Amino acid sequence: MDTYNELEIICSSCTILKDVPMKEHTTMKVGGKADLMIIPDSISSIQKIIAFLSTTNIPYLVIGNGSNLIFHDTGYNGVIVKIGTPLSDIEVFDDIIIAEAGASLAHVANTALEHSLTGLEFASGIPGSMGGAVYMNAGAYDGEMKQVVIETLCLDNEGNLITLKNDEHNFSYRHSRIQDDNLTCLQVKMKLEKGEKHKIQTRMNELNARRRKKQPLNYPSAGSIFKRPPGTYAGMLVDNCGLRGTKIGGAQVSDKHCGFIVNTGNATAEDIISLIKYVQETVYKNSGIWLELEVKIIGGC
Ligand SMILES: Cc1cc2nc3c(=O)[nH]c(=O)nc-3n(C[C@H](O)[C@H](O)[C@H](O)COP(=O)(O)OP(=O)(O)OC[C@H]3O[C@@H](n4cnc5c(N)ncnc54)[C@H](O)[C@@H]3O)c2cc1C
Repeated sequence: MDTYNELEIICSSCTILKDVPMKEHTTMKVGGKADLMIIPDSISSIQKIIAFLSTTNIPYLVIGNGSNLIFHDTGYNGVIVKIGTPLSDIEVFDDIIIAEAGASLAHVANTALEHSLTGLEFASGIPGSMGGAVYMNAGAYDGEMKQVVIETLCLDNEGNLITLKNDEHNFSYRHSRIQDDNLTCLQVKMKLEKGEKHKIQTRMNELNARRRKKQPLNYPSAGSIFKRPPGTYAGMLVDNCGLRGTKIGGAQVSDKHCGFIVNTGNATAEDIISLIKYVQETVYKNSGIWLELEVKIIGGC
């Protein structure tokens, strides 16, 4: 029996797709096809899917909104487990929000606003899912997931459920234990504070206006390509090398924000990856600093 049929038996109510163009599931809008994609509709179905894929040694990758991912043009030989809309419930109990991993950060931040809860304003413009945000310890404007997460419900790669308390996540800059232990994040419990709705709304508007002013939001991208090096800024180092606006094929160092590489319309993953390497090498020659990737590049071997 092939993997598609096995997955159908494991979860007949899940959406299962073949030969899926990953450019349609990532904000960079590049990348070849994944053999299979399954979109689970319950925590118990994810448990069974991950246990099956692990024990049969079928390569798999859990994704959320694809806003921090670049897939090679050759695609992905394996199964993409996309945690999205069917797992996006959000519940509010006083100052606690419990969100499933597929809920979008923007939706969760807006729910906090509706309930006059403060603490998630920083997240309202980050285009990721809750699962991806905890995995990355996503953050902006002095806020990060570490500050609001109380605990998460995760799966290990044998399909066992585990609960991690905040300090068990080993959160640091754009890093969490979920990366090290190859866990799947299913649900996130956050504690916020009671606030004033108009102040929360004003802060969100302010931060989103800053984003629109500084970031090339009119082009496909994966946000900041590089992590912030200690004591300086990636965008500044790139700009200092005269790389603003540099193009390879359809990939371009944004002329609005040099920490972003944008797809000007017809970029291939190869264009994007070649430009990333060119920027890393040029910055290294110029400053002695090697820019580490914030985005994850998938496939290609
Ligand atoms: C325009 C733009 C602006 C951005 N601004 C910011 C910003 O201000 N701050 C910031 O931190 N980031 C920013 N990002 C990057 C990105 O939005 C974040 O990293 C986000 O948290 C990724 O979430 P995602 O659901 O899209 O994850 P994906 O891109 O789908 O996946 C990212 C990684 O997380 C893993 N993953 C995803 N879901 C799960 C899960 N449920 N369980 C386990 N692993 C999982 C994937 O395997 C992958 O390794 C920006 C991106 C764009 C395009």
